[in-house]
Amino acid sequence: MSTAFQNLKPGVFPTINPYTYADDSTQPFWDAAKEDRLVAPRCTNCGTFRLPPSPFCFECQHREVDWVDLPGTGTIYSRIIVRHPLHPDLAAACPYVSGVVELDGTQGAGARMLVNIIDCDPETVAIGDRVEIVFEHVNDEMSTPRFRPIST
Ligand SMILES: [Zn+2]
Repeated sequence: MSTAFQNLKPGVFPTINPYTYADDSTQPFWDAAKEDRLVAPRCTNCGTFRLPPSPFCFECQHREVDWVDLPGTGTIYSRIIVRHPLHPDLAAACPYVSGVVELDGTQGAGARMLVNIIDCDPETVAIGDRVEIVFEHVNDEMSTPRFRPIST
């Protein structure tokens, strides 16, 4: 049977769309991702992180941001195990973990990312576990961020 996705492995949700469709408010994120760095926009007026990026601060409606380098580590805030594929062609990727990671360096103005958590046992990865970012360099434009447990 032919599928749209090749080389799927359990636990890794593939990059469905290899284009970022970036604009001025998101391009710095993708530029940093190419260099294996995690950055986030922080409001220059009130310090709130705006991730995903937005044209206006949701706290103070200010427009300008500074792009801040983050350590790329965090803590699992929430997670689910996806056992049923969204599409039959994605069956080989299941089960995988989809989680929300609270990012280090944003405490007090917290930023979280919804990401695939890889290199883990889906049955035992838990809320509160420490994780680190890893980028898959898909092409010259797209580097897909995922997180994996920090080995201790
Ligand atoms: Zn603000």
